Amino acid sequence: MISHNQQCIALISFHGDPAIEIGKEEAGGQNVYVRNVGEALAKLGWQVDMFTRRIHSQQPEIVQHHPNCRTIRLQAGNLEFIPRDRLFSKLPEFVEGILNFAQKNNLSYQLIHSNYWLSGWTGMQLKKYFHCPQVHTYHSLGAVKYATVNDIPDIASKRLEIEKQLLETVDRIVATSPQEKAHMRQLVSLEGNIDIIPCGTDIRRFGAINREVARQTLGIHQNRKLVLYVGRFDQRKGIETLVRAVHASASYGQGNLQVIIGGGSRPGESDGIERDRIEKIVQELGMEDIVTFPGRLSQEILPTYYAAADVCVVPSHYEPFGLVAIEAMASGTPVIASDVGGLQYTVIPEETGLLAPPQDVTAFAHAIDRILTNPDWSQKLGMAAKKRVQTKFSWDGVAQQLSYLYQQLVASQVKTPVLMAQAS
Ligand code: UDP
Repeated sequence: MISHNQQCIALISFHGDPAIEIGKEEAGGQNVYVRNVGEALAKLGWQVDMFTRRIHSQQPEIVQHHPNCRTIRLQAGNLEFIPRDRLFSKLPEFVEGILNFAQKNNLSYQLIHSNYWLSGWTGMQLKKYFHCPQVHTYHSLGAVKYATVNDIPDIASKRLEIEKQLLETVDRIVATSPQEKAHMRQLVSLEGNIDIIPCGTDIRRFGAINREVARQTLGIHQNRKLVLYVGRFDQRKGIETLVRAVHASASYGQGNLQVIIGGGSRPGESDGIERDRIEKIVQELGMEDIVTFPGRLSQEILPTYYAAADVCVVPSHYEPFGLVAIEAMASGTPVIASDVGGLQYTVIPEETGLLAPPQDVTAFAHAIDRILTNPDWSQKLGMAAKKRVQTKFSWDGVAQQLSYLYQQLVASQVKTPVLMAQAS
């Protein structure tokens, strides 16, 4: 029940359903971010509606996460998974769906926070009806992404145009790292207002289990050296670099090494193709005995995997933030990450982990050896990592910063009565 003076906000996450299982095709950091930010904001007293696209008739239209926070799924296009590069044409139907929902339920929103460029476009349309400020988080920048891939999709020019428009016109952009902000300025526009508010993690769950118990739970011998990867199967995640680095490391062949590559995939879909490719490399290198693929790891079991690992490797070609790094760090596990984007912000080299140039097999192999052969130092890195996340990257802290920003923006809005415009 919404009280009369409660501030309502709409979090828009068109392709990233906050209520869906994480770790599968296209469901990753954005879904986790929106869900956790929404729930934490609700605890701070905001009424939070998170709008997303419904992809299946069996999915409930509304999922209540907290008395003040719910996911609302609306149909836009056929009820099926559609890759994000083919979703732009479905947006007008989504906008109409949100307006109809608001009108039917007599709702108006005091602020819109959009996530990813598709939702950013949605937010810009909704603003015209709700007359409220818009905050936008990119999660990924086309200008950065297209510089690293060979096949540029047809939608690229539209995406770049909208990303520029967002930066120059919305009330506030939230960059999740100083590196992401620098990219916006270098590659998108010098105009527009940017605040840096990082992503967060659940510091009560990650870090609550000790290594011994975690290994017992997973059936991993206490003396094994365990290297962990967690994330989606996507070529840009650099899993190939990790596999080849383990093979090239001095630790390989000592008979005591285990590699877990966690993350879901669907046969025939793009992430399934990447998983097949990685499994083939593992076979070619003769590493089947030491590499396991447990599939999608639920958020409930993940803290156990991070706690059991000696090191978590994040070998992405690029990462605007990289939640996996802070989840591992919060669990007291040192991280070896690519020296790119937000990973340069979260991982302090030689203090909480190590950074290596992306796709540099030799550098990753050397970093893996350094950590695995120095358990005392590695433990020190893990402890410093945990402390860094506790002080800088908790969801509660992130939500407080967002809440403060929202309050400022809402207060600066001209106080005119807001009337819902006709949705149709
Ligand atoms: N994740 C998960 N289960 C998996 C694989 C990944 O829950 O099997 C989660 C992971 O814990 C993290 C998110 O998916 O919260 C990935 O976020 P990140 O920012 O690292 O990468 P993205 O997917 O956004 O590229």
